[in-house]
Amino acid sequence: MKNYKTDVLVIGAGPAGASAASLIHKAGLQCLIVEKETFPRFVIGESLLPRCMDLLDEAGMLDAVKSQNFMVKDGAVFKRGGETCTFKFSQQFTNGWPYTYQVPREQFDQVLAETVSALGVPILWQHAVNEVNFAEDGSSTSILQAPDGSEVSVSARFILDGSGYGRVLPRLLNLDEASSLPLRESYFTHVTGDKRPAGDAEGRIWICSLDDPDNAWMWIIPFSNGRTSIGVVAKPDYLARYPEDPDEKLRAIVNDNPNTRERLESASFCFPVRHIGGYSISVKRLFGKGFALMGNSTEFLDPVFSSGVTLALESANRAAKTAIRELAGESPDWQQEYVDHLMMGVDTFRTFVNAWYDDRLPTIFYSPVKPESFQNQICSVLAGYVWDQENPCVRQHARAVDAIAQACSQGSDLKG
Ligand SMILES: Cc1cc2nc3c(=O)[nH]c(=O)nc-3n(C[C@H](O)[C@H](O)[C@H](O)COP(=O)(O)OP(=O)(O)OC[C@H]3O[C@@H](n4cnc5c(N)ncnc54)[C@H](O)[C@@H]3O)c2cc1C
Repeated sequence: MKNYKTDVLVIGAGPAGASAASLIHKAGLQCLIVEKETFPRFVIGESLLPRCMDLLDEAGMLDAVKSQNFMVKDGAVFKRGGETCTFKFSQQFTNGWPYTYQVPREQFDQVLAETVSALGVPILWQHAVNEVNFAEDGSSTSILQAPDGSEVSVSARFILDGSGYGRVLPRLLNLDEASSLPLRESYFTHVTGDKRPAGDAEGRIWICSLDDPDNAWMWIIPFSNGRTSIGVVAKPDYLARYPEDPDEKLRAIVNDNPNTRERLESASFCFPVRHIGGYSISVKRLFGKGFALMGNSTEFLDPVFSSGVTLALESANRAAKTAIRELAGESPDWQQEYVDHLMMGVDTFRTFVNAWYDDRLPTIFYSPVKPESFQNQICSVLAGYVWDQENPCVRQHARAVDAIAQACSQGSDLKG
C-alpha cells in the first residue's frame, strides 16, 4: 500500500481545510490535504460575513479572493411584509471590515484550494478518508480510498478534520451529538432574472420572513455572475403545506410571499431544486490526542445569519495555530485556547438564532424605538465579530438580546 508521511493531515479542502493548511505550511510544517471530491463542486453556504476578510487575509488568501470580482456584500436586509430593517456593515460597533462577498462556493472553494496548492501544499483529490487509527502518542495512520478503489495510507503527527458535512472524525470516533435546535429543512436553487435593487443595495443579502408562527424564512443572495441563490428554511410542517415536488414547492413558497414574489416573479431556476435537512448537529468534544475538529465537522447551528464559513475559518485559524504550538513541543491548553474561544462565538450566534425563531430578534429589528447604538452592536454580530468582548451584544449576548427585545416590545425609551 502506498504510504504518505506528513506532520499534519488535513481532511477536506473546503474553507476550513484550505485555510488551516495554509497556516500550517507557513509555519514550516509539512501538510497534506485529502479531499473526497474533485473541485469545482457545489456546496451550499454562499454569503460570507465581514469577519471572513480578516481570516482570509491571515491565511494569505484574501488577494486571490479579491481578484475574483465576487459580488460585494455591504450589508443585510431583513423583510417582513411591508417592514424592512437594513444593517450596513459600515455602521457597526466593532472596527471591522465594512464589506465582504457573496460567493458561488464552487468558485470560492476552488480559489482557496488553488491558492494553498500554489504555496506547495499537496492535495490528494478524490481520496476519501475511511479509517483512522491513533497511536498512544497521538500520531495516526489513516486509510484512504483512491479513485481507482485502491487503498492508500497517511501517517501523520496530527489531524485537522475539516470534512464538513462528511464529519469524518465525529463519525469514526462516535463524537456526534444531537443538536438542541429543532429539525429544520432547506430547499434551494440558483436563478436568473432576479429583479435586484440598484447601486450598493444590489449585493446585500435579503432575509425574508414568511407567513409562519415559527419564523420560516427565505434567503436571496445575488452573485456577480448574474445568478442569484434562493432558498427556504422551515420546519417540516410548514414545508408540507406546499406541493411535494421540490421545484413546485419552492416556486409556490416564493409566490406566497409579497417580497420574494415581487423580486423573483420572472426568475428561472438554473438547476432542479435541492434539499437538505437535519443539518443542525452538535459534537461531544472538539479535540483529542492527535486531532482537532474544525468548521462544519464541529457544531452546525442554522444558516439564518450566514455564520457557517466564518466559524469554519475562525476554527481553522485557532486549531491550526494551536496544533503548530503542540508540534513545536509546547503544551497548549486546547480547552482554553481553542474550545473556549470558539464557543464564545458559537454561543453568541446560538443566542441570536434562538432569538430569531422565538421572535425576539424580529421584534427588535422592526421596532421603531431601537437606538442607533443597539443597531450598531447587533450589526457587528451579524458581521461575524462575535469575539469582540467590548460589544455588549457579545459579552452578555443573552441578557442584551432579552433586554433590548423586552424594551422594544413595550415601546420603552431605550438608552444605548
Ligand atoms: C441551507 C444552508 C445554507 C447555508 N448558508 C450559508 C451562508 O449563506 N453562509 C455561510 O457562511 N454558511 C452557510 N451555510 C453553512 C456552510 O455550508 C458551512 O458552514 C461551510 O460550508 C463549512 O465549511 P467547511 O470547510 O467546514 O466544510 P465544507 O465546505 O463542507 O468542506 C468539507 C470538504 O470535506 C470533504 N470531505 C467530506 N468527507 C470526506 C472524506 N471522507 N475524506 C476526504 N474529504 C472529505 C468534502 O468533499 C468537502 O469538500 C449554510 C448551510 C446550510 C445547510
